[in-house]
Amino acid sequence: VSDNPRVARLYAEIYAEDVTALIADVCERVDVAGSIRRESETAGDIELVAAPKLETWVVPDGMFDTKEVTANLLLNRLDELVAGGELLDHPTDPKRGERYAKLLDPKSGMQVDLFMVLPPAEYGVIHLIRTGSARYSEWFVTECRRHGYHVKDGALHKGGLGCVAQGCEAIPTPTESHVYAATGIRFTPAHLR
Ligand SMILES: [Zn+2]
Repeated sequence: VSDNPRVARLYAEIYAEDVTALIADVCERVDVAGSIRRESETAGDIELVAAPKLETWVVPDGMFDTKEVTANLLLNRLDELVAGGELLDHPTDPKRGERYAKLLDPKSGMQVDLFMVLPPAEYGVIHLIRTGSARYSEWFVTECRRHGYHVKDGALHKGGLGCVAQGCEAIPTPTESHVYAATGIRFTPAHLR
C-alpha cells in the first residue's frame, strides 16, 4: 500500500501493458503483479516481476586466458529508457539495483515497481509474493512453515524450521503453480488474495 494517487484498474492495466512492452524483449518472462493482477478497483502503482535476459560472452583475459562477461539486457534497457525519458527514475525515492527498480511512468504518472528475478530467487515465489496482498503474502509464508517448507531469498526450501543447516537447496519453482504444488497449500485465485 502506497500513498500514490490511485488509478482505476482498467486504465492501470493499459499503462502496465505499455510499460511491459518497453522491456518484454529483454526479459525471459515478465508479468504484472500487485493490485492490478489482483483485479483491485484501483491501483496506486504498477508492479512488475521480470526475469532478465542475460548474455554471456567469452573475452580475452590477459595474453593466454579467457573469461566470461555477462550482460544484463534488462538493466541496459532501463538505462536507455531513462536516458530517453520513456521511463523516469522515481522523483523522490529513485532506486535502480539488480533486483529492484523504483521508476515513474511519465505517461500515467504512476510509480513503477520492477522486481527482477535473479538466482537464487525463483520466479514463481517472487511472482506469488509480489502479487500480494501484503496480508496474503505474509499468511502464505507462515503457511509454508506449517506445510514443512520455508522461503528464503525469494526461493522455496524444504523444512518447516527454516535454514537450520548449511546446504538448503532451492526447490525449482519457475511458476506460481509450482509453489502451490510443491507446498500443497490450497490455490487461491489472485483476485481473492
Ligand atoms: Zn533454507
